[in-house]
Amino acid sequence: MRIGEVRYLTDDRDDPKPRNELSIFRGGNGDWYVGVSPEGAMGLGQFVRICTSGGAASSCPALVQAVSDAYVALAAQAEAGCSIPDPQMTAPAEEALYRALVASHPALQRGLVRCLHCGAVCVVDVAKCFREGWPLCCEHTMTLVTK
Ligand SMILES: [Zn+2]
Repeated sequence: MRIGEVRYLTDDRDDPKPRNELSIFRGGNGDWYVGVSPEGAMGLGQFVRICTSGGAASSCPALVQAVSDAYVALAAQAEAGCSIPDPQMTAPAEEALYRALVASHPALQRGLVRCLHCGAVCVVDVAKCFREGWPLCCEHTMTLVTK
C-alpha cells in the first residue's frame, strides 16, 4: 500500500475471491490515481491518472473535485478505525468534540443518570447520548446525576 493510499473493498459480498477494491492515492506529482486492485494486492492494480493541472483539471474539473472528495471520505473513515464506511457513523470531528465534552466534567465521565419519576438509575455512554439522545424512563428524559 502506498503512503496515503485509501481503499474501499467492494460491497459485492457474493463475488468469488479475490474481491476487488477501489484504491485512491496522490502521486508525488500531485495528481490523483484511481484504480481497482484485487483484495490484498496492496494497490497493484489498474490505475487511471487524474491530472490536477492540465488534463482532467482542464477538461473535467468536477471529476478532480469528486476524486478529492472520495479520497477525503475514505481517509476520514480510515482515521476513525473503520475501513468500511458506515453512513450512520458520526463524522470523526464531531465524535472528537463529543469525547472532549465528556472529558470536561466528572459527571459526564461517570455517565450516571436518574429517572426523576421512579428513581431508576443507570450508567450511559454520554458521548453516545450526545449523538443519539438521552435515555427515557417513565416517558421522560433521564437526568444526569451531577453529585
Ligand atoms: Zn422511571
